[in-house]
Amino acid sequence: MPLLVMKFGGTSVATLDRIRRAAKRVGREVANGYDVIVIVSAMSGKTNELVGWVRETAPMFDAREYDAVVSSGEQVTAGLMALTLQEMDVPARSWQGWQVPLKTTSAHGAARIVDIPTDNLTEKFNDGMKVAVVAGFQGIGDDGRVTTLGRGGSDTTAVAFAAAFGADRCDIYTDVDGVYTTDPRIVRKARKLDRIAFEEMLELASLGAKVLQTRSVELAMRYKVKLRVLSSFEDNDENAGTLVCAEEDIVESNVVAGVAYSRDEAKVTLISVADRPGIAAAIFGPLSEAGVNVDMIVQNISEEGRTDMTFSCPVDEVTRAEAAVQAAKDAGHINYHDLVADEGVAKVSIVGIGMRSHAGVAAQMFKALSDEGINIKVITTSEIKVSVLIDRKYMELAVQALHDVFGLERAA
Ligand code: ADP
Ligand code: ASP
Ligand code: MG
Repeated sequence: MPLLVMKFGGTSVATLDRIRRAAKRVGREVANGYDVIVIVSAMSGKTNELVGWVRETAPMFDAREYDAVVSSGEQVTAGLMALTLQEMDVPARSWQGWQVPLKTTSAHGAARIVDIPTDNLTEKFNDGMKVAVVAGFQGIGDDGRVTTLGRGGSDTTAVAFAAAFGADRCDIYTDVDGVYTTDPRIVRKARKLDRIAFEEMLELASLGAKVLQTRSVELAMRYKVKLRVLSSFEDNDENAGTLVCAEEDIVESNVVAGVAYSRDEAKVTLISVADRPGIAAAIFGPLSEAGVNVDMIVQNISEEGRTDMTFSCPVDEVTRAEAAVQAAKDAGHINYHDLVADEGVAKVSIVGIGMRSHAGVAAQMFKALSDEGINIKVITTSEIKVSVLIDRKYMELAVQALHDVFGLERAA
């Protein structure tokens, strides 16, 4: 039997009514002759609520118990979806991650998928089951305990199942009708893309566009999964939504494909550290061991033999970063005069594979920001992206201005 993976995000399963609506879509694909693996998220807002409960109970929580709590949201929607399908006379059952079993590393809260054995589900499909409803976002670690895959992880569950089962397609149903040139909630004139290259989607996702989890795009690229993003609220035809595909399958595209933002960033500066071999390792080693996700790094010479070291990280990791650096200082591994944390910054990025062959794109970006009076605090670039750190209060203005200056509302 041909097989499809259909993933429904939080807003698409937010109420019993929406679960029914999603189940009807699944029923239509079954009627079209497919076996279907449905991946569900928790009802929208549920995971945030669960995370909040964990933090309130234990600020320095045990990550294994965090996973035990936050994985429960998907358990509920998986069962409800299976029941809804059964009510429609579609043979279906639910599976929690560990029952599949979706095997992961034991990096709790950010586990990576190691293996998805197909035998259990295949046996049930062979027995006449038409739909396997799998709880997204979760698996079982090599420590034998429930794990979760990081926020937005149900996208990754979906793509991983599509790869493991050789699905014809992996359809990600969400609350927008595809991938846009930027978040359509911020820029009204954002344009839906019919196609986007894996590389561009990967950058946009890792730079903050949460429409797909970064890891899901990586997996789709590696295993050549036919990945489509579409709306669960509209009627879709064969060509609906956005296809994430190889660069060669895109005929025309703009130099800049999209603008991404990440709102909750922080900039931390260690003032006056010794400028000697090994200093970066002595600072960033402990940060990495403390699980701080350092993003941008800038080193400036401030005076003879001394340097300022600046890095950015998610704002909710600043406390951990400060503790790690302080511990390294107390142990005598590093020395600095002061640590200054600016918790009011955001990162705005432009992404496009066309930037490989076009000079001057970064300069055009800086000019556009300067025309709006926006000060740039840190810059990083790669072959296909430019990112800047700016004051958070200008973030939306910056996204808007960049969308305008690169003419993203118009197709190439
Ligand atoms: P789900 O709950 O279905 O997983 P998410 O909230 O995780 O949905 O992702 C969808 C959201 O991603 C959209 O509502 C939109 O606000 C946001 N988003 C950010 N950047 C983009 C983009 N470039 N294109 C489409 N949506 C985007
Ligand atoms: N429910 C999880 C989250 O909100 C996973 C997901 O929806 O993809 O992060
Ligand atoms: Mg999501």
